[in-house]
Amino acid sequence: MEKKKRIVIALGGNALGNTLPEQMKAVKITAKAIVDLMEEGCEVVVAHGNGPQVGMVNNAMIALTHEDDNQPNTPLSVCVAMSQAYIGYDLQNALREELLNRGISDIPVATMITQVRVDPDDPAFQSPSKPIGKFVSAEQAKAMEEKYNYIMKEDAGRGYRRVVASPKPVEIIEIGTIRTMVDSGDLVIACGGGGIPVIRQGNHLKGASAVIDKDFASCLMAKELDADFLIILTAVEQVALNFGTPDEKWLRDVSVEEARQYISEGHFAPGSMLPKVQAAVDFAGSKPGRTALITLLEKSRDAIQGKTGTTFHL
Ligand code: ADP
Ligand code: MG
Repeated sequence: MEKKKRIVIALGGNALGNTLPEQMKAVKITAKAIVDLMEEGCEVVVAHGNGPQVGMVNNAMIALTHEDDNQPNTPLSVCVAMSQAYIGYDLQNALREELLNRGISDIPVATMITQVRVDPDDPAFQSPSKPIGKFVSAEQAKAMEEKYNYIMKEDAGRGYRRVVASPKPVEIIEIGTIRTMVDSGDLVIACGGGGIPVIRQGNHLKGASAVIDKDFASCLMAKELDADFLIILTAVEQVALNFGTPDEKWLRDVSVEEARQYISEGHFAPGSMLPKVQAAVDFAGSKPGRTALITLLEKSRDAIQGKTGTTFHL
């Protein structure tokens, strides 16, 4: 039998929704797309973002400190951990149910709470760039800056969001366990929300006030697991040059070299499409035979068959 293609899938915001009921609904559709890929003969590892969810948890924890003087502020790293567990819970149940609905009862599904080490000297700590939480108007953004000391930035023409530091992932602490589970055929959800950012202090891992981009964490995990594909599922079917302008040109298939050129020409918005293209280039450029793909969740099966999406290769 031919060796199964190993795929790391990075789920974007639209695969999970923005509220509890939205997520409950979205994961059902997401689970179908993932199990479709498994039925295509692929071995799948799931990673996901947490922008809206970590913002939601953070706001809830701030409300708690206002209600109860005994509750100090919750570190962002703990909020990421909470978001991993919450999203993992919904995803693993939806996946389990979808597998059982298709008569597949021999694939265990589990979420791995994942810590990802970052460098305390990463320049990202000096210039917050990662949007989290919900979109707000310019007026609301100004009020939040004044009230909470947040840094608010405009995000790809869709409104304002809070931004936090987004250092690069250096090491996935639980990679050994993740690999063992994946190698034995389990369906694993890991590196949720880019992983819980931690800094090494001797034997101690200290939570860092940051949110790692899930696109970079997924790329690192895909390399560590020697995956064949990194599939980044997002809100657009393809990546574009001159995005949102009359000269918009959708990309079908690009070499790592071409993509690097487009990055340097500034075609991809920082905080949204840029990290995806950078992750795709990093993965596809890391070893011959590795392919990265950026597309819509609903198009993942078509994309893996080479019918759509933007493909990156050496
Ligand atoms: P996710 O939650 O999947 O990480 P993001 O909102 O962070 O999604 O990034 C996807 C968005 O990036 C798209 O919906 C689109 O609005 C925006 N975008 C910015 N630049 C481009 C580009 N060059 N081509 C396609 N989409 C782009
Ligand atoms: Mg994103």
